[in-house]
Amino acid sequence: KDEKPKPKAKAAPTKPETKTDDKVRTGKDGGASALAKLRSFSGCVLAEYVWLDADGVTRSKTMTMTARPLKVTDLKVWNYDGSSTGQADGHNSEVLLKPRAIFNDPFRGYPNVMVLADAWNAWDDQPAKNNTRAPCAEIMDRYRSLDPWFGIEQEYTLMKPGKVGLKPTVPLGFNADGSEPAPQGPYYTGAGFNVAIGRPVADEHYKLCMEAGVKISGINAEVMPGQWEFQIGPCRGIEMGDHLTMARYIMLRVTEKHDCVCSFEPKPAKGDWNGAGCHTNFSVTPMRVAGGYDTIIKVCEAFGKVAKEHIAEYGEDNDKRLTGKHETCDINTFKYGVANRGASIRIPRDAEKSGRGYMEDRRPAANCDPYRVTNIIMRTTGECLSAETI
Ligand code: ADP
Ligand code: MN
Ligand code: MN
Ligand code: MN
Ligand code: MN
Repeated sequence: KDEKPKPKAKAAPTKPETKTDDKVRTGKDGGASALAKLRSFSGCVLAEYVWLDADGVTRSKTMTMTARPLKVTDLKVWNYDGSSTGQADGHNSEVLLKPRAIFNDPFRGYPNVMVLADAWNAWDDQPAKNNTRAPCAEIMDRYRSLDPWFGIEQEYTLMKPGKVGLKPTVPLGFNADGSEPAPQGPYYTGAGFNVAIGRPVADEHYKLCMEAGVKISGINAEVMPGQWEFQIGPCRGIEMGDHLTMARYIMLRVTEKHDCVCSFEPKPAKGDWNGAGCHTNFSVTPMRVAGGYDTIIKVCEAFGKVAKEHIAEYGEDNDKRLTGKHETCDINTFKYGVANRGASIRIPRDAEKSGRGYMEDRRPAANCDPYRVTNIIMRTTGECLSAETI
């Protein structure tokens, strides 16, 4: 008999997710419901270990602890699968995480913490691939009597989400029909709808950095629509890289909730649009005391002799940004000057007036590795100043 197959019974309607689960999944309640779930583990503390992968991008994972750690030695050396981050082979994949600095976790709230860690090969206890913190810490230690202070102005561009795993190409401020917005002018430090684009992201990041204990000193809307800046510092020595890394991590976490992607590309939009940099402000004790202006000039001269070596440490694709236009100095030219935003190094007017202060290296790109940048700045300065005292 060719009986017609019976129509299949309709699948039972899937149970809609509860509101709470949805909030937990999207994080749209600021983590409050996730925290409520965690309360059942009362007495325990969550530690979010944060480190840099082979590409200098932050990664993180969480560990339950029985008490809040007060110092890095309260934290254990942990490990992760380095074969998944480009830092090890599959057959010998263990990479160690050595805790270096503790921050409050502003996402989960008190008493939970975030831990800045650096990566070490488990097999030979050498710095893992792209652990640029280790050599930087050595240099900062060597010149610690000079008491280096750094302040980095991190520019970034908020982008439309695009597709999973693909690099986004359209800034948040660009029009939905693909046309470009009106030229630059009103956006820098601007306010208002269709002028300041992405403020909820910049503001939330600011607040969470404060709560975390990251030394954030300000924010501003930048020249291109969708582009912003936050300033980290002044920080002493190795602390600069640690605090900027944590600030970048917090930014990535914040964008999870705002349907946009944070790009640290030096030139996210081609054409007549500003690129994104990481101006690095820097001083050592001899620059900050009376007569320090002479030291600033000496160090600027020393920087000029190794300009190429510095550029090599200042980020990928920086040639697309350092064109001599859009408030930059051409990548193949080195010049310094007072209050000059078209120079490689700007000396603030106030330093000239008061005869002491700091200098601003305007060359590092938004995607630079702050450990590499502060390392070479300290090395060049340390060599220049110690050669002179001998
Ligand atoms: P700009 O005028 O270039 O936009 P910002 O105000 O954005 O400058 O950033 C300047 C940064 O310089 C501050 O965030 C601060 O961290 C840093 N800074 C200030 N004084 C010193 C100093 N003496 N040594 C090093 N860095 C400093
Ligand atoms: Mn596993
Ligand atoms: Mn600035
Ligand atoms: Mn800026
Ligand atoms: Mn600047």
